[in-house]
Amino acid sequence: MATGVKAISSRKIEQTSHGRIVHDMHAEVLSLRIFNFFLLKDVEEMTRMNERQGRLLEMTDNDRYKLKDKTMELAMYVTDIPCGDASIDNVREEMDDDKKENWKESSSEIEDNLRGRAFFGAVGKVRTKPGRIDSPISYSKSCSDKLCMKQFTGILNSTTYDLIEEGEARRQMYLKYLVLPEKRIRVKGIERCFYNRFQRKLGEFQEIRDCLQPLKVITTNLSSQKFHLCLDKEKKSCDQSILYCPPLKYVQVLNKGIRNGCSAKKKPIDKQSRTDVSREALMDRLKSTKEVNSSTYLQFKMNIRNLRAIRIKVKQLLGNWTKSSTDNFPI
Ligand SMILES: [Zn+2]
Repeated sequence: MATGVKAISSRKIEQTSHGRIVHDMHAEVLSLRIFNFFLLKDVEEMTRMNERQGRLLEMTDNDRYKLKDKTMELAMYVTDIPCGDASIDNVREEMDDDKKENWKESSSEIEDNLRGRAFFGAVGKVRTKPGRIDSPISYSKSCSDKLCMKQFTGILNSTTYDLIEEGEARRQMYLKYLVLPEKRIRVKGIERCFYNRFQRKLGEFQEIRDCLQPLKVITTNLSSQKFHLCLDKEKKSCDQSILYCPPLKYVQVLNKGIRNGCSAKKKPIDKQSRTDVSREALMDRLKSTKEVNSSTYLQFKMNIRNLRAIRIKVKQLLGNWTKSSTDNFPI
């Protein structure tokens, strides 16, 4: 489980991160990071205890891993519609008229990096994280776009991808369901974002057609008194994020992409400040269980050829998926 609505500017990432700052702290993205952390932790414990079965995973005959329960299906529940294309209709309905003008005038070319809520009349587009119009830019893509990508790649990240057995075991690592609040759903937007916007072009992308496992969107009218969505514009959104993994009884609080309470002003960020779901921390955890033959993180990512090839094709399929921040470090 995770909470969070912030993203770190690309300038900050490139100047100070070296794998230690989490770029994107939107709840959807953090919950996927903590899921991958959970998998790594499971593998780490099995290796240490010399066991073939963990809490969630079991070892295969090829010394890789798969989910213990073959019938398990993965779902994500979000308390609001993910930012980006899936919720752009909600944004249009709720935005004050004066703000609409701001976004129109200060936006750059529509075909370039489509920032947050800029050109909110344009639908079916890849967008960056929303934020204040005057805030430093983050190239992190919206949760809609990232979840759309996961329909082709599954939710394993580069540190866990090769640990999981190819074939059925990897196909189980896709989100099968996306559960969203009924009242907030605009059906057209959801269908467009997660399928219609690329459906017609899919014929030209034979290489990735079989990778696609479309999300099934389920509605809920469950509401929690404690964790309800607040649309009060007078209230400021919270800077901190919570990461919570109940099976491990694990909680961590993040602020500005690092552990809450640590200084984000240090250049570079020191190791003690990083969170357990930062790129460097996840890499270190992988290295404790498996030999890694790359000297830098970017090289390591390039070597996961299958995942990389799918990602490149999906970016082309969705169009206007502009570059992201570079965050490299020695491993
Ligand atoms: Zn988001």
